[in-house]
Amino acid sequence: MFSVYEYFNRINEINPKIRMDAGDPDIPVRREIIEAAVRSLRNGETGYTATAGLPELRERIAEFEDVSPEEVIIAPGAKILIASEIAMAKRVTIIAPYWNAYLLISHQFGKEFEVIETRLENRWTPQIEDFDGDLLVLNYPNNPTGKVLSSSKVREIAEIVEDNGAKLLSDEIYGDLSFVNFTSPRKFYEKTVTVKGFSKLYSMTGFRLGYAIAEKEEIKRIKRFIEASVTCVPSFVQRAGLKALELREEIVNYVRKEYQGRVKTATEILRRFEFIKPEGAFYIFLKIAQDGIVFAEKLLKKNVAVFPGIAFGNYSNFIRISLAGKRWKEGLEIIGREMDASEHCGLQ
Ligand code: PLP
Repeated sequence: MFSVYEYFNRINEINPKIRMDAGDPDIPVRREIIEAAVRSLRNGETGYTATAGLPELRERIAEFEDVSPEEVIIAPGAKILIASEIAMAKRVTIIAPYWNAYLLISHQFGKEFEVIETRLENRWTPQIEDFDGDLLVLNYPNNPTGKVLSSSKVREIAEIVEDNGAKLLSDEIYGDLSFVNFTSPRKFYEKTVTVKGFSKLYSMTGFRLGYAIAEKEEIKRIKRFIEASVTCVPSFVQRAGLKALELREEIVNYVRKEYQGRVKTATEILRRFEFIKPEGAFYIFLKIAQDGIVFAEKLLKKNVAVFPGIAFGNYSNFIRISLAGKRWKEGLEIIGREMDASEHCGLQ
């Protein structure tokens, strides 16, 4: 199996100048957020906190998510919340191309999993009529394709999952970074566990702060998982989160516009190649005329890092380009030139 983390470590060792591999945003964390974290530490908030999170933070999230605080739980990042759901499932169904961690987590917990593949030719639209698992993982806006599903498609999927008496895990880490109307399946099906976080919108990847929204009983179950594993999120991180939410509207407007602009420019630079224009997030899943690992290696020699498509499923002739890093425009020009060169080679 291709190991994303091994590949990532290798990129780090090579240390190329242009990083279009990871989804680690280059937009700086707002100064006020950092100050809130520092202030919390200076005030002596250094001990354990409530497992489900600071009441103020749960309340604030509940307010804008339009749920009760008992339907919210705070955790150190979205990933551990995803793990808490996969840990409880019998058979996990994921839609490809997928964020590789779903697979890694399923392996770690020894879970059976099933992959439903989607294709560029169908604009990455999933057909899940044959679904018969007990947990379906959805991720829209999608990493790596940037796809966002229509409301009617989301409803159709939610109904199939409900008919199966299964649970839906909706990874909405890029939910605020949708450039089109985004509908959460929670609107249609109450057995949806929605996972969100502060990593992408607020660039707070290293703070490790995420949350889930679900029915009260489900939140209690997740709480037991957090108690049994990571205990709680440090107070200073949650204080930073509270400050981020105070600035939420301003940050959403600015950050969404920034990534939308990057996606627009990238779409123009790469227009002669095959991909769908992302409707959210900050990735482009680009079809290439050769093996993705070989092509990614060629780019590495030109000082540009991307991930090969194989990291996201059975997509060996794709690469994923992240627009979240610095010098992304320069990187796109290099990718474009390398694409032209390799297509030319293919014709000879
Ligand atoms: N979900 C998806 C689809 C992601 O792409 C990522 C990060 O790349 C995460 C979750 C991770 O979120 P967190 O940093 O909150 O664990």
